[in-house]
Amino acid sequence: MAIYEDFGEEFVADRLTSAEQNEEEAAAEISLRPERLEEFTGQQTVKEQLRVAIDAAKMRGEALEHVLLFGPPGLGKTTLSQIIANEMGTNIQITSGPAIEKQGDLLALLTNLGQGDVLFIDEIHRLPKTVVEMLYSAMEDKVIDIFIGKGPSARSIRMPLKSFTLVGATTRAGQLTQPLRARFGHIMRLELYTPDELSLIIKRSADILGIEIDEEGAYELASRSRGTPRIANRLLKRVRDYAQIEGDGKIDLGITRYALEKLDIDRLGLDSIDRRMLTTIIKFYGGGPVGMETLAATIGEEAITLEDVYEPYLLQIGFISRTPRGRCCTYLAYDHLGIPMAKEEKKSGQVTAFDGEDQ
Ligand code: ADP
Repeated sequence: MAIYEDFGEEFVADRLTSAEQNEEEAAAEISLRPERLEEFTGQQTVKEQLRVAIDAAKMRGEALEHVLLFGPPGLGKTTLSQIIANEMGTNIQITSGPAIEKQGDLLALLTNLGQGDVLFIDEIHRLPKTVVEMLYSAMEDKVIDIFIGKGPSARSIRMPLKSFTLVGATTRAGQLTQPLRARFGHIMRLELYTPDELSLIIKRSADILGIEIDEEGAYELASRSRGTPRIANRLLKRVRDYAQIEGDGKIDLGITRYALEKLDIDRLGLDSIDRRMLTTIIKFYGGGPVGMETLAATIGEEAITLEDVYEPYLLQIGFISRTPRGRCCTYLAYDHLGIPMAKEEKKSGQVTAFDGEDQ
């Protein structure tokens, strides 16, 4: 941490704007989840595709084809999987890649599913290889092959399964094997939300939680929620605390700005870790390019977390660009942080916001 002393920033362990959640929050989220497709704000394309697919499957009396949802955390993947089950009128089993350690775990889940049920596997890219292999035949042919014994006496038993819909969620679709990806009938990408959409989500959540919030307060909060409903809901609750303790309980523009300043969240929703990420690229690596692993090691975070949780928004607002040689800060980031851009940095091409994807 010593290298940050001259940045004058405090380390914030419990990151308010992280899209990841803890268990307590997960329980509290349940009441805020929309239950029907119509109540789900934004993601127009995904909603339209799902509407048609669900209605058609219902008309044919079949299970919905398998769905892969991908995008950064906190955008509504779990919520959508529950909506799918509600709309189809079936049950849902919720699990995650790391929770299914061996084939037996998957077997137990699959054989417990009723006709047309939904199996939601979060972080599906983290499933062990042997489990993924078992999933292939389950998804495609509705059977699983169980091998019994070893050596010459080994034999396999084929078990039929009921029709089911696998809904897989992932932050990294690229890490799925090709055969797994090919078995999803629908592959849908969730996008970060606009402030207008987040504002609607915030007002709906405020209504459910009995919080009074005006239009300007909701929009301000929405603009600082990094395009992510989970963060919007979390900030709403934190600002409510300030409104109750230091205001009259109602959330307006003034108390929102005051609370977010206290929480160290700037006008674009960046917190100290985002700023640290940007400042590190600028001050230690001359604005970039710098590889994600190196950057992560320098700021003491996991590369995977930086990539999945922090980077999407910084890319979206054009503060970071991804080049084949690593991440660069754009002039927008310099501007926002009030750091002048050296001539060489301008020349070396870090001024473009979108100069090539992927690494
Ligand atoms: P993910 O599975 O992608 O991490 P979740 O489905 O758990 O995200 O959503 C996080 C929170 O945000 C939940 O409380 C959910 O109610 C809320 N949320 C997500 N998307 C929407 C939406 N489009 N409309 C309203 N609330 C939403």
